[in-house]
Amino acid sequence: MTADHSAYPYAAPASEALLERALAVTPGGVNSPVRAFRAVGGTPRFMVSADGPYLRDADDREYVDLVCSWGPMILGHGHPAVRAAVAGAAAKGFSFGTPSENEVALAEEIVRRVDPVEQVRLVSSGTEATMSAIRLARGYTGRSLIVKFAGCYHGHVDSLLAQAGSGVATFALPDSAGVPKEMAAETIVLPYNDLAAVEAAFAERGHDIAAVITEASPGNMGVVPPAPGFTEGLRRITAAHGALLISDEVMTGFRCSASGWFGLEGPYAAGEPDLFTFGKVMGGGFPAAAFGGRADVMALLAPLGPVYQAGTLSGNPVATAAGLATLTQCTPEVYARLGSVADTLTASLTEHLTAAGVPHVIQRAGSMFSVFFREDPVHDYDDARAQYVPAFAAFFHSMLSQGVYLPPSAFESWFVSAAHDSVAVERIVAALPAAASAAAAAFATIDR
Ligand SMILES: *Cc1c(COP(=O)(O)O)cnc(C)c1O
Repeated sequence: MTADHSAYPYAAPASEALLERALAVTPGGVNSPVRAFRAVGGTPRFMVSADGPYLRDADDREYVDLVCSWGPMILGHGHPAVRAAVAGAAAKGFSFGTPSENEVALAEEIVRRVDPVEQVRLVSSGTEATMSAIRLARGYTGRSLIVKFAGCYHGHVDSLLAQAGSGVATFALPDSAGVPKEMAAETIVLPYNDLAAVEAAFAERGHDIAAVITEASPGNMGVVPPAPGFTEGLRRITAAHGALLISDEVMTGFRCSASGWFGLEGPYAAGEPDLFTFGKVMGGGFPAAAFGGRADVMALLAPLGPVYQAGTLSGNPVATAAGLATLTQCTPEVYARLGSVADTLTASLTEHLTAAGVPHVIQRAGSMFSVFFREDPVHDYDDARAQYVPAFAAFFHSMLSQGVYLPPSAFESWFVSAAHDSVAVERIVAALPAAASAAAAAFATIDR
């Protein structure tokens, strides 16, 4: 691996050709909106392979990957133990449509790691997990309103898309077309980190609120950790009004620590969240996700109870093998490595952005972090939106041209893996001075 990636041609003819084919048969040419690069401009890179901390695109250019499939690839790409587990499972069959041992083992591993989770049900995506968790909360409480926070993303569930993060934030959409007014009216959207707003909402409509759903530590508007006492306050208020608290750990679960954000912030004096949702890391790059929590609440699910929930591929033997192997490999050494890579990268980012005079704030949750191009700390979605997005786009393209793949949006966390060795980290660090200059140049074009 040579250090000079600035010599790479920036044009991506093979990706451009693939995009043209894709545009003819797929809206926007992509199967998930942020991948389209619309927020940063340019041609999305079509990847052909991945290994360790690297991605390789159709033009045979290699990138250090700081997206890691939006979180799942915590061990890096193609980890040998996960590869072996997948090959072993696939050799025995792709899908049984019956219960199988891998599902039990994965559920046991999740229950073992996250103390308040007594039982889980496996599903195939984070969206299904949050959708099922709110249905269960509504079934349990007999109430219909859901409280969510602006800038939090919980998948593309109808009632949870209002002022959502991730792609909805990236494209500055207020919410989504196609969600009936009646459905949107079942959702109360509040500013994140604002307990007074939560108190007020409960004072007014507490009898009708089934649950508060929150990202355990939001990563879908960039990284915006809860203020000290915020999660605790949510637990206190929901408990006082007989509503459930759902902690969405789809992104943070098994990434921020062995037991997710809960492992860093919990247990809570006011009590634990009733339900949790998981995805991303627990699937190891395959479609596997879960929701779980208190056994008495989970007992309401069919076939035991009246809340229906099902899935043809739920608990798929290959996906669960990948997830279980991934979690098994997530040793204390892995979390230590993720932390030290994040330490190095955030320190270098600070150094080079400061040297270039770029207004910025870096926020972090475990090994997740992101850069906001503004002066002041970001506490909520309004703060996140007040960053200077064109500076991110300039920074992004400079990094891309130097062989570093960042999330193509200013409203996403960056993800590292345990496979990010010193060579990969050094390549990222070497790209920072030019990227910082590019961001500075973008700032210089505005009248501030
Ligand atoms: C990614 C994500 C989801 C949705 O998961 P999908 O597998 O993309 O459906 C839900 N909640 C959070 C916090 C996420 O980061």
